[in-house]
Amino acid sequence: MAVLAGDGGTHLAVDRLMLRRILLTGVEDAVRGGTRFTHYRLEAIGRVAACFAAGSEVCGDVLVAAEVLNSPVRRQYLPHAKVVDTGLRQLYGKVPMTKASRPLFLEEMFAVFTPVIGPGKQ
Ligand SMILES: Cc1cc2nc3c(=O)[nH]c(=O)nc-3n(C[C@H](O)[C@H](O)[C@H](O)COP(=O)(O)OP(=O)(O)OC[C@H]3O[C@@H](n4cnc5c(N)ncnc54)[C@H](O)[C@@H]3O)c2cc1C
Repeated sequence: MAVLAGDGGTHLAVDRLMLRRILLTGVEDAVRGGTRFTHYRLEAIGRVAACFAAGSEVCGDVLVAAEVLNSPVRRQYLPHAKVVDTGLRQLYGKVPMTKASRPLFLEEMFAVFTPVIGPGKQ
């Protein structure tokens, strides 16, 4: 783990697998995966049932929607909310540091994310 400070603020590099293990510590038995959420159903006051593709259901007090872009919860709860394509695209890449490539980068580019923006900001 490393903390890198640049003009853009402080960046904390965290291994994703390690972060996932930390977050799961102590709740392993309560976390289940491998099934696709399809829809929810409101039950008696204050209760909600989450329904899954395999036909199973889980009932609880709160349903947290964290399935991002194509969220089935959002589609059901906010059917009028539309996903808008902003036209922005992001590409990630890695450049091997060799004697030839190293001088191509400014020193400050090693401390922060380095956006490279094309003509017309596209
Ligand atoms: C290539 C890439 C690089 C990134 N790099 C960084 C970075 O360096 N630093 C940073 O801070 N952020 C980074 N991000 C952004 C970061 O990954 C996201 O902001 C973060 O993962 C969002 O977390 P989340 O829990 O909201 O969604 P996610 O991590 O996307 O989790 C959503 C989960 O919902 C599940 N799901 C979806 N639909 C259903 C369904 N119907 N039923 C059941 N499960 C479902 C998915 O399988 C997934 O596991 C990066 C993203 C990408 C794509």
